[in-house]
Amino acid sequence: MKPEKVVDFYSRLREHEPAPKTELQFVNPYTLVVAVALSAQATDVSVNKATKDLFKTVDTPEKMLALGEDGLKSYIKTIGLFNTKAKNVMAAARILIDQHGGVVPRDREALEGLPGVGRKTANVVLNVAFGEYTIAVDTHIFRVSNRTGLAPGKNPLQVELKLEKVTPPQFKQHAHHWLILHGRYVCKARTPECWRCVVNDLCAFKDKTPPPGALAKDVKAKGRPKRVSKAVGAAKGARRTKAKMKR
Ligand code: SF4
Repeated sequence: MKPEKVVDFYSRLREHEPAPKTELQFVNPYTLVVAVALSAQATDVSVNKATKDLFKTVDTPEKMLALGEDGLKSYIKTIGLFNTKAKNVMAAARILIDQHGGVVPRDREALEGLPGVGRKTANVVLNVAFGEYTIAVDTHIFRVSNRTGLAPGKNPLQVELKLEKVTPPQFKQHAHHWLILHGRYVCKARTPECWRCVVNDLCAFKDKTPPPGALAKDVKAKGRPKRVSKAVGAAKGARRTKAKMKR
């Protein structure tokens, strides 16, 4: 995508959502680390449900250790992989106390040294808790970056590095959220809602999805149109990529 188009692309997303925020609920950097770690392969809604009561009383590594692994499990048992996640949260709390004075470090390497915290989680924490210009590439950002031609790449790291390169400084603070929200609610994996997309004319995706009404009319008049089959094929490709990223 040409630089002037990139500016237009982000400007429109910004216009739509001037001050985007993470949908994960947290009360301080530590609870953000916990929430993001719990959100791996789970929805933000399911994590928020589980942490709503937890974070009312447990908001520091010390309190987490006092709660204990079984106590934590009783709050998060509705979240996938909760056994492993509970172990990781406990081990991370111990490291935070022993090595960082109980404080979440503003440092990528130190964050990635915490069990259950990978590059993506570290990027979210650096961006959301500390305001750094990092872009965490999750399944939504990976899909949007590739489909639109904004920052194509074969894996999340390639996409992240490309996004860092092409995203103008004035958009870096919120790029992460704009792209996630766009992918989650408009440029969806199965069927992107191109007909109501604010960046439709800037996007390189060839087989844009027509409005639902037009689709029904097309199918009735001419049978299944080619572009729909292609859009479905593209969605299947996106699902395969998502499955690989989860592994
Ligand atoms: S036009 Fe369609 S494919 Fe392109 S960004 Fe918008 S929703 Fe996604």
